[in-house]
Amino acid sequence: VAPGSASGATAFKVDSPYVRYADGAIESDYMYDTTIVSRDAETGQLKAKPTKVHYQFQTKTSVGRVGLMLVGWGGNNGSTVTAAILANKLGISWETRKGTQAPNYFGSVMMASTVKLGVDENLRDVYVPFNEVVPMAHPNDVVIGGWDINSLNIAEAMRRAQVLPVDLQRRVYDELKSLKPLPSVYYPDFIAANQEERADNVLGGTKLEHLEQLRKDIREFKQTNSLDRVIVMWTANTERYADIIAGVNDTADNLLQAIANGHAEVSPSTLFAVASILEGAPFVNGSPQNTLVPGAIELAERERSFVGGDDFKSGQTKIKSVLAEFLVNAGIKPLAITSYNHLGNNDGRNLSAPAQFRSKEISKSSVVDDMVGANNILYKKGEHPDHTIVIKYVPSVGDSKRALDEYVSEIFMGGLNTISIYNTCEDSLLASPLIIDLFMMTELMTRVTYRVKTDVDEVEPQWQPFHSVLSILSYMLKAPVVAPNTPVVNALAKQRMAMENIMRAFVGLPPNNEMLLEHKAF
Ligand code: NAD
Repeated sequence: VAPGSASGATAFKVDSPYVRYADGAIESDYMYDTTIVSRDAETGQLKAKPTKVHYQFQTKTSVGRVGLMLVGWGGNNGSTVTAAILANKLGISWETRKGTQAPNYFGSVMMASTVKLGVDENLRDVYVPFNEVVPMAHPNDVVIGGWDINSLNIAEAMRRAQVLPVDLQRRVYDELKSLKPLPSVYYPDFIAANQEERADNVLGGTKLEHLEQLRKDIREFKQTNSLDRVIVMWTANTERYADIIAGVNDTADNLLQAIANGHAEVSPSTLFAVASILEGAPFVNGSPQNTLVPGAIELAERERSFVGGDDFKSGQTKIKSVLAEFLVNAGIKPLAITSYNHLGNNDGRNLSAPAQFRSKEISKSSVVDDMVGANNILYKKGEHPDHTIVIKYVPSVGDSKRALDEYVSEIFMGGLNTISIYNTCEDSLLASPLIIDLFMMTELMTRVTYRVKTDVDEVEPQWQPFHSVLSILSYMLKAPVVAPNTPVVNALAKQRMAMENIMRAFVGLPPNNEMLLEHKAF
């Protein structure tokens, strides 16, 4: 079994009157410090007022048995993540030119990174694994299943993907052979025409029957595997955008009615989202299309079910959300960000069609907006750097995606600085750990409730879950979907800090900061 502990392990216990370990839950009292800013009506001057909000968090400690259902299970990501988890779970190593390679979870924030817990008595930093701050599910324990419009079993799908080393493929082949994707919903209008030859495992019937079948699939998967919870994730082909039409997908009721009427503008991914929401199964969209139409979000809110998206933030965009933040925060003004990609896997083939490329272009382009908007010294209101995205399908590079980026920025006294980046990587080896992180963080959020306390509460406020739209997943997503009227954060360091500090709050620990005052005093 791979390094790391089993589901639910934590690396420490908190010693504080504000934290209670009881009845299968950790409860914390937490003072949330923020600064409220207003402008003086007369002088026009900004006024900053520190404020405190008293939160209580309750985190159930028992993870239980959790399942992950992937839509597009037989794709490069689906087959890669399934094979890799199996190799980790069974401790399967394989031979390479350089010797024996053991399985690992590198690239997963939850499984392979650490959080600073605090300092010891000698003021030295103490770090703990990210997944041991609060009890989290372990990927080795997850039961994986899912759907695909293609009927290949997962062993053959892994072979077709040409991602994992061949000796590893041989060693996991027999275990994966019996895993067969469930038939799925195929509406040819939503994905590229070049995908049609794959569609040999599709559901017949009406849209409403499709919805009922998907709901039944989720229920049966849960029952057959004795699961406490199922999480559904879309890692199928990128669809075109769905038109947002008044009376069709703008409200929860309209969306349900549109499905009953078989309206053509309800996409397969939205149907999966609706089925998951109605089954109380959290749904995460790993592709760029607008699956979470307003009606789907309203339905999730109404059902108190969780949704998250869009589009795994794996390579080029991840670097962009670091580099753009660095430049703007350094007082340097990006003028043009020009990004080329070429890739040769089935994702690239699908994206070679204009409507599907457009979905990707949209999700890739919003990524610097918040950083630009935060600096009104460099950018006037409404001003943006040029941002161009090109994707080309080059079959011979397979899953080994190439990304070329040029950042041209204005520096001191009108000078120019050009940074050029060339990035090569197996696309699915970047995306698979994100699937694991999204799964783990989403699962955690199903066990957390909170309430806000005030001095004037006459009755105890009710515990309630977090908002249905899980913006805490933003770190793993290119174009984070957030609750209506909520700011989108793209900057990677901020996104990680949010995950880390919210998890610390669950166990009553103050947010991490880098003040290091203890090292600055005499
Ligand atoms: P892939 O083409 O190898 O796999 C997609 C799978 O989905 C295929 O097996 C296909 O048959 C199946 N499929 C298509 N429509 C379906 C439907 N309606 N129901 C069920 N299955 C369906 O692609 P991939 O490389 O695994 O990527 C999957 C998705 O993740 C793509 O949309 C891609 O844009 C997105 N994504 C990938 C990365 C990355 O790999 N680094 C990053 C961000 C986003």
